[in-house]
Amino acid sequence: MSPRTLVEAREPATDARFLDALAEIVGEAHVLTDPELIEGYTRDWTGRWIGDAIAVVRPADTAEVSAVVTTCFEAGIPITPQGGNTGLVGGGIPSAGSVVLSTRRLDSIETVDPIGRTIAAGAGVTVARADLAASAHGLRFGIDLASKESATLGGIVATNAGGTRMVRYGNTRAQILGIEAVLADGSVLSRWTPLVKDNVGYDIPGLLAGSEGTLAIVTKVLMKLVTPATDTQVVLAGVRDVDQALHLCNRVRQSGLTVEAAEIMTDDGISLVCAHTDARRPFGTPSPMYTLIEVSSPRETEESLLEVLSASADLIEDATVEPGPARKLWTLRESHTESISASSTTPVVKLDISVPLSVMGMFIESLREVLTERFVHVRPMLFGHFADGNIHVNLLDAEPSIAHELTDTVFELVSAHHGSISAEHGIGRAKSPWIALGRTETDIAAMKLIKSSWDPRGILNPGILLPETVG
Ligand SMILES: Cc1cc2nc3c(=O)[nH]c(=O)nc-3n(C[C@H](O)[C@H](O)[C@H](O)COP(=O)(O)OP(=O)(O)OC[C@H]3O[C@@H](n4cnc5c(N)ncnc54)[C@H](O)[C@@H]3O)c2cc1C
Repeated sequence: MSPRTLVEAREPATDARFLDALAEIVGEAHVLTDPELIEGYTRDWTGRWIGDAIAVVRPADTAEVSAVVTTCFEAGIPITPQGGNTGLVGGGIPSAGSVVLSTRRLDSIETVDPIGRTIAAGAGVTVARADLAASAHGLRFGIDLASKESATLGGIVATNAGGTRMVRYGNTRAQILGIEAVLADGSVLSRWTPLVKDNVGYDIPGLLAGSEGTLAIVTKVLMKLVTPATDTQVVLAGVRDVDQALHLCNRVRQSGLTVEAAEIMTDDGISLVCAHTDARRPFGTPSPMYTLIEVSSPRETEESLLEVLSASADLIEDATVEPGPARKLWTLRESHTESISASSTTPVVKLDISVPLSVMGMFIESLREVLTERFVHVRPMLFGHFADGNIHVNLLDAEPSIAHELTDTVFELVSAHHGSISAEHGIGRAKSPWIALGRTETDIAAMKLIKSSWDPRGILNPGILLPETVG
């Protein structure tokens, strides 16, 4: 049965008895219905998505999540799982008639195992807290992103987040060992083993990574931790274009240094950050683009990096090197998202794409050309984790009436360059109309089969990811 048919067959019971049943499970204080109180859960970070909900429910543990889901399942009420609400594609924003299930109270860190190098924690624990807990044992959490103070472990699993350390440690899927999740009928699935080698059947934790709340609600995770590099150096180099940055990154790698992070920014982006924060321009003479590369090596990182840089005068216009963590240099990159939002006169059209490294320069050039030709008033701001092929295309001052056409234009160009319309933020509401640009018909049909077998009543995040699961 298709999810659409099931959604139509739903008979919502939005009466007081339903809310009372939720309150009985989580306590009255944790069923929010006051429009002022739920506003922070029904609007997203970008200001582009404004939803509505019957209530926001905040369970404290897996048993409560299970009971809430069972109650919604029986009443046919859709559920929007939500963690830190930092998602950039509208996936955590409810449509009218839904319940927001907030995981923020699932916030206990159960164990940090310094020998097995794992952390077991609730889905509502933030990335920053997980990292702090790991640091207490000389370890680090492998995912790092500018939203870490609010983004939750459940959220990064659900979106399969990448972030600044992906080039070093892989995406969130690569860090998951075990998962506990509540399925659409309220049953609890636990795939919980610290084994790195365990090939019994389908990779369910891997499937839930990137499922954007459409298959199950993640309640607990068991994730790998990493050993932090002890001697890191950060270079910020002005370059002419992205190809020079890619060549520089390649030379750094070939010298034997380990690339911990590699980011690209434009001069416009740096100017914006300097206008909106107290950051200062890095060099007297601006360059068209800047790359920030963080490196490590078992020894003499600084000497090795300086050697590469002095042999790369053909690629670099200017450069500065600082020992890690080099917060000031990183601020120039990490303040981009906030500065962009603050500077645009309209909600920013945020596209997060990836293209093969070999065509990245051509893609950026074509993108600029097409935007200048067809969307004169739109200000493009490009930055991102370029060594993974990932560019965040932010389009400022774009009237909402042209957002669809603008997205269409960029995605067609991405597709023509054999890229992906979602590198790391997911599909959510924002990109579901374009999913066919990223997957074949058979592939989409297979995903729909998975969705309908895991969530036959279509109550988990309808309208997200797969366009036919309307909410
Ligand atoms: C300043 C800034 C910087 C960012 N940088 C990056 C970056 O570098 N890399 C990157 O990948 N992303 C980045 N993001 C996007 C965002 O932080 C990530 O997508 C993050 O993983 C979302 O986590 P969250 O807890 O806020 O999830 P939410 O926004 O609450 O939800 C996101 C999606 O996951 C689902 N979900 C949330 N929790 C659960 C759960 N427990 N079970 C099932 N489904 C769930 C929601 O339904 C929704 O579909 C950035 C965002 C901001 C604002």
